Parts: sequence; structure tokens; C-alpha cells
Amino acid sequence: MPKGRKRQNRKRIGRWTAQRLAVLDEFLQGGEHLSARDVYQRLREKEINLGIATVYRSLDFLIEIGLLRQYDFGSGEAKYELNDDEADQHHHMVCRVCGKVINYSKFVKRGLSLVKDIKMELEKNYGFKINSHQFEFRGVCGVCGD
Ligand SMILES: [Zn+2]
Ligand SMILES: [Zn+2]
Repeated sequence: MPKGRKRQNRKRIGRWTAQRLAVLDEFLQGGEHLSARDVYQRLREKEINLGIATVYRSLDFLIEIGLLRQYDFGSGEAKYELNDDEADQHHHMVCRVCGKVINYSKFVKRGLSLVKDIKMELEKNYGFKINSHQFEFRGVCGVCGD
């Protein structure tokens, strides 16, 4: 197979459609940590009836082009959210009792130089170009801890 064609195949991720825009819109309107089923439900409430398979395909597309990122917070269901710029990326604390996910970003600003050092070290040692990072802490939230 000629090289050019192979590259083309790998890049075939599709293009923008009204459905994909509608899915993205749910996140732009403040939806965070949504599962595919959440997105599906929200769209239904607005009488936008997409099949669940279309929702999944749209989410994959939005991840592929870097607008969304995907997490597994341990609930067994993937969650999606907007992909922030690395500089003001938020991070997560996940309660292992109720499954609540708390966003935080504040202390990360203070820790940025530490993160920078770690990145440089990793890039040097592994020859790996890092363009995003994510911290996730798991534990028990204030409500469940009482
Ligand atoms: Zn909790
Ligand atoms: Zn988040």
C-alpha cells in the first residue's frame, strides 16, 4: 500500500455535522463530566433525537480533534468534558463512596513550576513530548466522611 494512502486512512476521522455540533454544545453550555447517556438524555429533553451510537461517534470525533477529553472515574462509565488549555487545566478529586467528582485548579497554579520540572525530566528521560497532564486524587468527600 502506498505511504500516502495509509496516512490518509489513519486520518479519516470524519467531519463536522449538525449532530456533532449539538453534542459539543452540551459541553459548551456548562455540562461537565457527562457520560454518553447524559448527553443523549439532555439532547432528548431539547427534542434533538440522536441515537446513542451517534452520540458515541460524535464524542469520539470530538476527542479525536482535541476538544473533549475522556475519563474513567471508577463508575464504570466513561465521562467526558471540555479539554482545557494546559495552563488552566482543572483536576479532579473523586469520592469513592458517592462518586462525586470535585474540580479544582487553584493549587495547581502554585505547583506549576514543580509540574514543569517533572515534565522536563520525563521528556528528557523518555524522549516523550508531553502536551497535557492530569492529576486525580481519590478519597472520601466531606459529606460521606461524617
Ligand atoms: Zn462522597
Ligand atoms: Zn473535570
